[in-house]
Amino acid sequence: MAEILLKSNEDRLLKGRHPWVFNNQVKSIPNGLKAGDIVNVLNSKRKLMGKGFFSPHSAIMVRMLSFEDAEINENFFYTRLLSSIKRRHNLIEKTNALRLVYSEADELPTLVVDKYDDFIVIQTLGAGTDIRKGLFVDILCQILKPRGVYERNDVPVRAFEGLPSNKCLLRGSAPGLLTIKENDLRFFVDIENGQKTGFYLDQRDNRDTLKGFSHNAEVLDCFCYTGGFSMYALHYGASHVTGIDASQESIMLARKNALLNNFANRNFELKMANAFDELKLFDSTGKKFDIVILDPPSFIRKKENLESASRGYKEINLRAIKILKPGGILITCCCSYHISLEIFKNILISCASDAKRSVRILDIKNHPQDHPLLLQLKESYYLKCFLLQAI
Ligand code: SAH
Repeated sequence: MAEILLKSNEDRLLKGRHPWVFNNQVKSIPNGLKAGDIVNVLNSKRKLMGKGFFSPHSAIMVRMLSFEDAEINENFFYTRLLSSIKRRHNLIEKTNALRLVYSEADELPTLVVDKYDDFIVIQTLGAGTDIRKGLFVDILCQILKPRGVYERNDVPVRAFEGLPSNKCLLRGSAPGLLTIKENDLRFFVDIENGQKTGFYLDQRDNRDTLKGFSHNAEVLDCFCYTGGFSMYALHYGASHVTGIDASQESIMLARKNALLNNFANRNFELKMANAFDELKLFDSTGKKFDIVILDPPSFIRKKENLESASRGYKEINLRAIKILKPGGILITCCCSYHISLEIFKNILISCASDAKRSVRILDIKNHPQDHPLLLQLKESYYLKCFLLQAI
C-alpha cells in the first residue's frame, strides 16, 4: 500500500478526526501514485493515522476513509453505502426524494447520492470517487434497483480536482420530468436540467416551518425556484402567495407544481423578476406581507468577496424586515459557507436596527437529517435559516 508521510506535528488534525490532509502538511509522496488511489497516511514517526483517497491536484491531498487499518475494497464501499441508506429509513415516510449519501458525514468523501422517487442522481466530486463511479453505481443498483441513474457532475468544485464538468444518463432511460412527494405535497423535478441535482432537498424541514404561520397569511416567496416554500404556504392555508424568481424555467415549473397540487391560480401569483428590484418596489410603495421568505443563491464563491456578498444579504433582509406587517414572519436563509452563522446573525441585527424594528428569533435551523454535518469539519457547514418575527 502506498504511504504518504506527514511533516512533524502535522498529525494534529487527523488525531482530532478532522478528515482532510492538506498538501502543505505532506513531507513525501511515493512515485507513481495516481489520482484516486487509496493511500496509507503516516505521521512523522511512521505511525499509521488511517487511509484515504489521494487527490494530487487538490489542496486537500488526502480525504480520509478510515482512521483504522481497514481493508478498503468493494465490500468496504458496499457496507458504507448500505449503512448510509439505512440511516435514513425513518425519512422514507415523509418523502420519496432525499439525499442518501452526503460525502464526509457519511464517511464517503466527495460522493453525493440523491434519490428522486425511483431515480438516482450521483455526483463524484473528487478523484477517489470519480474513478470508482462504476462501482458505486453497481452497488446502488444492487441495493435500490432504481429505474435509472443520472450523473450530475456539472459542478464547478470538480475543477479543484482537475475533473471535467459532465452530466449524462448512466443507467436506464431518460427520466424526463419526475414527480416526487415531500410531506403531503408533490413536485415536478427536472434532474437533468434543474438546479443542484434537481430540487433543494436541503430545505425540506425549513419549508415545513410554514406550518405554524401560514393560515390566512399573505406571503412573499423571494427566489422561489420551482415554488418549494410557496407550495407549503398554500398547503398550510395562505390566502395569497407571490413567488419571484429570475429564471423563466423555474417559474414555469412552479406554475406546474401549483396545478399538480390543485392550488387555485388566483391564490398564487408568479413573477419572473430580480428579487432585489421587487423588494425595493414593495418597500417604496408601502406594500406589507404577513410572511416573507428569502432563500437566495449563494452570493459568495470566494472569501475575498465577503464584503460585497454581505451587502447583498443586508439589502434584501433590510427590505424584507421593512415590508413585514406587525407580528410578521421572516424566513431568511443563507447557503454560503463563507458567511458563518455569526456573520449572518450580525447582518440581520444591523438590518433590524436600520429598519428600527425589534425582531424576535423564533428558531435557527440548519441542515436536515439527510444532509448531516461532520462536527469536526466546519468547512462543510453551509446552510443557515433564521425564523424571525418583527414586532
Ligand atoms: N426556495 C427554493 C430554492 C431557491 S434557490 C426551494 O425551496 O426550492 C435560489 C433561486 O434564486 C434560484 O431559483 C435562482 O433562479 C433564483 N435567483 C438567483 N438570483 C436571483 C435574483 N436576483 N432575483 C430573483 N431570483 C434569483
